[in-house]
Amino acid sequence: MQMLNSINNINIAPHFNLSEFACPYCKRIMLRPLLLEKLEKLRKIIEKPIHITSGYRCSRYNHQIGGVTNSYHCIGLAADIKVKDINLITLLEICENIDFTGIGFYEKKNFLHLDVRPTERTRWRE
Ligand SMILES: [Zn+2]
Repeated sequence: MQMLNSINNINIAPHFNLSEFACPYCKRIMLRPLLLEKLEKLRKIIEKPIHITSGYRCSRYNHQIGGVTNSYHCIGLAADIKVKDINLITLLEICENIDFTGIGFYEKKNFLHLDVRPTERTRWRE
């Protein structure tokens, strides 16, 4: 199983590893370069580790966790993130400046959904 343990263990940006974006169910990945670029930009501004709580999801995994059908996670355009020791509103404001096209604000669960959908700017909160 040694091969499986190191699968996707590749640094793809100064602060990100490919494995962080993999579907936890099947280890497959799709990742749009623009999403990675914006996340790296965010990482440089906040100077704190970004925990990717959900990156790519295959449709089976997405269904299993109750994600919306046609989720941007399923085409490599979205990531859910958590950052320790930073106010979620502050984090949101920084993400607005980086201009992610989709931003979901999850106050109770304390995370942000960020995406680079090619359509119009979309914002929501839960
Ligand atoms: Zn999967």
